[in-house]
Amino acid sequence: MCSPLESGMNALSMRMVTRSRSRGPGAGPRAGGEDPVPLGRREAAAEGRKSHHPIKRQQKAQRLHVAYESSDSEKGEGTEPLKVPIWEPQDWQQQLVNIRTMRSKKDAPVDQLGAEHCYDPCAPPKVRRYQVLLSLMLSSQTKDQVTAGAMQRLRARGLTVDSILQTDDSTLGELIYPVGFWRNKVKYIKQTSAILQQRYGGDIPASVAELVALPGVGPKMAHLAMAVGWGIVSGIAVDTHVHRIANRLGWTKKATKSPEETRGALEEWLPRELWSEINGLLVGFGQQTCLPLHPRCPTCLNYALCPAAQGL
Ligand code: SF4
Repeated sequence: MCSPLESGMNALSMRMVTRSRSRGPGAGPRAGGEDPVPLGRREAAAEGRKSHHPIKRQQKAQRLHVAYESSDSEKGEGTEPLKVPIWEPQDWQQQLVNIRTMRSKKDAPVDQLGAEHCYDPCAPPKVRRYQVLLSLMLSSQTKDQVTAGAMQRLRARGLTVDSILQTDDSTLGELIYPVGFWRNKVKYIKQTSAILQQRYGGDIPASVAELVALPGVGPKMAHLAMAVGWGIVSGIAVDTHVHRIANRLGWTKKATKSPEETRGALEEWLPRELWSEINGLLVGFGQQTCLPLHPRCPTCLNYALCPAAQGL
């Protein structure tokens, strides 16, 4: 009988490591006393859907965010609460609801073949974490189906740090081919596996800083490894799908040039309760609807709310 990964492979059990700022649609139950989403915002979103000038509207919205509230004992001492304006895209809540609706069948490749589906659920926890990291390393510039096939071949031989280090480079290359940049990945997998064996007892490190220091591991992989492997939401995992869609929907205050820049821009305003959901949601949306070259805008529920729709 397989046991669930002790430290949390289940996204539902993820815990947050950053400070809460606000809540969005679909977040968990509100704590007592929190304000609901203002009705005025919903009305504004509904009004916006009637408009056909989304580009003009897109960058204007701001909300007032109470960054600090004085305690009862401080009230009446003449101190005013500090109010810091936090930018947010005008229609993001409705856009998110629409994407969830479009993704409700969970039938995109990422839903069946993503990193959280590629490890052996019966392996010991640290082996599972290693397999998660390895599948993430294989997945860059590679379709989910190809990554899943390579993982299947590797797992058939018993996929552990030791087994990889005992496999010669040409055999490893044959096993992972045709993943993108497979020659480089053979080199990175060997180097990373040696470091994991020497410094981490065959496990993966539990911090983003240590993960990105490993050869062939980038920020997106590190945040996903933290989430899937350790059950910790350390940041938004931004790949090319998330980067592209965030820019098309106007979810960044200004156009961003790289996934890392997009991650920073999203984390500035997106409620942290939604951080763990965004990657899988947008990756699948990018695989099925908001395609890189020919997005299916006429069938997209966000057509009237999307600043990019008219220009594609
Ligand atoms: S309208 Fe087109 S560009 Fe905009 S989110 Fe939908 S598919 Fe993507």
